[in-house]
Amino acid sequence: MSFKVSLIRGDGIGPEIVDATVRVLDALQADIEWEEVRAGSGAFKDLGTPLPEETISSIGRNGVVLKGPLETPIGTGFRSINVTIRKHFDMYANVRPAKTTPGLATRFQDVAIDMVIVRENTEGAYAGIEHVIPPNRAAAETVILCTRWASERIVRHAFEYARRCGRKQVTLVHKANILKETGGLFLEVGQTIAREYDDIAFNDIIIDNMCMQMVRRPEQFDVIVTTNLFGDILSDLAAGLIGGLGLTPGANIGNGASMFEAVHGTAPDIAGKGLANPTALLRAAGMMLDHLGMVDKGRRLEESIAAVLAHGKAITGDLGGRAGTAEYTDALIAEIGG
Ligand code: ATP
Repeated sequence: MSFKVSLIRGDGIGPEIVDATVRVLDALQADIEWEEVRAGSGAFKDLGTPLPEETISSIGRNGVVLKGPLETPIGTGFRSINVTIRKHFDMYANVRPAKTTPGLATRFQDVAIDMVIVRENTEGAYAGIEHVIPPNRAAAETVILCTRWASERIVRHAFEYARRCGRKQVTLVHKANILKETGGLFLEVGQTIAREYDDIAFNDIIIDNMCMQMVRRPEQFDVIVTTNLFGDILSDLAAGLIGGLGLTPGANIGNGASMFEAVHGTAPDIAGKGLANPTALLRAAGMMLDHLGMVDKGRRLEESIAAVLAHGKAITGDLGGRAGTAEYTDALIAEIGG
């Protein structure tokens, strides 16, 4: 049976890294039928809207979308196209793995990092509840929203993910000592749900200590679950530990649909030059293969990426090499075929 997946090529380096990813999935013989739809500033230019109705209905129909980075054109009434898609499909869990690639020169190359950050994606400090207090913007307020319901579903998602992927530990990151109500509720929910999963170890850690621990001993972490703002910051920290944004994928898991993407942006400075590193989107495609049940193909993809990066011959500029997108992609396809 083949899976129908919506495909958004996106803006900037999007089309280059999406095309590379489609070539690699073809080489893996992944059973996917792509349904290409438009979004972003390219769509706005050609179709007069950055998020056509057909794109939303395609994602809703297929339940899965692989997406290149998008630029949100100014003055179209959208704060962000990415956020609009995530909200529309209630994509509540942002999942970002960060794993050391053996042989790849990074600041932490001697440490075996293998962590997954599960970030609550709908509320916290990013719930969008903000006020300005007059006169002359004398003050401003942002409300941190923490509901028991959303906390339960994200913590449960982290434990279920850990169980499914054979992981051993879930660490909940919070600031309950200062944010006594919101942080306290999130921690309490975590401690309660942890009792349902006695096969998985549970601990909690305060965000400031977490930042230090992630830099001093990042190998101690496995699955991390946290609120929206802390998750946003920690996932970029984790990306930095393993070699940067060009390597880091992200999944947005929702009830209506799930979206797989690179965490970096459109990289306008190198767009159209054939220099982009497609690894982050390739790894996002690997997460998508897992999500669709093609776990072996996902593993094969990750092993092939690791082999090409470790070999060190076809490395893109962001990682200190000289290869372009095509040369790297060819090396990967040769590795898959070999
Ligand atoms: P946006 O506004 O869309 O977020 P940006 O340039 O502010 O774009 P990124 O696109 O994340 O932010 O890029 C940050 C830097 O990292 C840029 O110098 C870019 O060239 C580089 N970069 C990002 N992604 C890649 C990639 N896949 N391959 C190579 N370089 C990349």
